[in-house]
Amino acid sequence: MQRIALMGATGSIGQSTLKVLRLHPEKYQLFGVSAHRNIALLAQICVEFRPKIAVVADADAAQELRALLPDIQVEIWHGASALNDLVSADSVDAVVAAIVGAAGLASTLAAATAGKRLLLANKEALVIAGSLVMSAAIASGAQIIPIDSEHNALFQCLPPARPLDATSGVAKLWLTASGGPFRNHSLAELAAVTPEQACAHPNWQMGRKISVDSATLMNKGLEVIEAYWLFGLPLHQIEVVVHPQSIVHSLVEYVDGSFLAQLGSPDMCTPIAHALAYPSRIASGVKPLNISQLKSLSFETPDAVRFPCLNLAYDALASGPSALVVLNAANEVAVDAFLNGALTFSAIPKLINECLRQTPIQSVHNLDEILTLDALARISASTLITTQQQLEI
Ligand code: NAD
Ligand code: MG
Repeated sequence: MQRIALMGATGSIGQSTLKVLRLHPEKYQLFGVSAHRNIALLAQICVEFRPKIAVVADADAAQELRALLPDIQVEIWHGASALNDLVSADSVDAVVAAIVGAAGLASTLAAATAGKRLLLANKEALVIAGSLVMSAAIASGAQIIPIDSEHNALFQCLPPARPLDATSGVAKLWLTASGGPFRNHSLAELAAVTPEQACAHPNWQMGRKISVDSATLMNKGLEVIEAYWLFGLPLHQIEVVVHPQSIVHSLVEYVDGSFLAQLGSPDMCTPIAHALAYPSRIASGVKPLNISQLKSLSFETPDAVRFPCLNLAYDALASGPSALVVLNAANEVAVDAFLNGALTFSAIPKLINECLRQTPIQSVHNLDEILTLDALARISASTLITTQQQLEI
């Protein structure tokens, strides 16, 4: 029986993880769960799965949850160290890191430091603190298994030995991108898109932040950075190709000309089941791909002019760790502002670019320095939004 701590249980990845756990009660015990504000859903999860510990944002949320669960034996934790305490608990075997954004960094890092099996969806943790998280995992012996579908596909297609060296024969990692809902939009059309349109992804059902990131292609930029830290290959060996059908989840190109790809229906339950069971395999509940009915699999080069976020991410990775913190913080603020009607879609990359331009490159060595810079970059981004003329929108 593996005991699981599920961070972000009420989100899209959290819910998909619960779907897989529901299929395998004899293999996995949900030991702990966390949620931020959706206390009603967290209460339902506690009734169904009976976790030992539930972590919520603050004392009010804890009180609200307790009131909904008068007869259920669950410890309800809150406060600054609650998430870290849960993921580091001796009773936890594996942590599913599915909090969205930089808010997931501390608990992801704590899980890596505590040597847990880390099933990683929270890509922003690697974007802003890739070096810290990876070195913590190496020092503790924590195994990181990516849940993000592209990285899970690459993980499946790569040889198991880490670090990858010349004998592995890997020439390139090819991350596939659906291109999002606006793949064929002109620049003028992009300027007018609404949050509802941006959140209606053609192939995937996801949380609102990652849906907007997919529409701007920032998601793919963040994933290039995620791949860089996870697999340790130089930047020029990590490429992006647009594949609108979202059937090929990514490819590894080898020096002998072979390409290995992982295919499947676009449903996160597949990579989640893979990560939970690795190196075994378990059923995910996903409808199998009807391979003989597939009409076409097409691939094209991403358009850097209409979707500048991808190159912003490549450039930030080349500039170094502090630029990655600023890139992520500015993006989180910009996406939030777009979702709340305070910024246009086309202004998202402009805001991020301006924030990067205004923030000098600096050294960031530890969690405190990263979080301080993250907070400063959020202030710069918010200030820019209130003085939008600087963005030439
Ligand atoms: P979501 O918005 O649906 O859910 C986010 C979860 O994080 C919720 O449970 C919420 O309660 C929690 N949360 C939000 N803010 C928090 C805070 N400040 N402190 C603590 N908890 C907080 O997001 P999602 O789509 O499930 O994505 C989660 C992560 O997985 C993201 O990093 C995303 O990039 C990654 N990911 C998601 C998908 C997908 O299909 N949804 C695919 C690949 C990777
Ligand atoms: Mg992905």
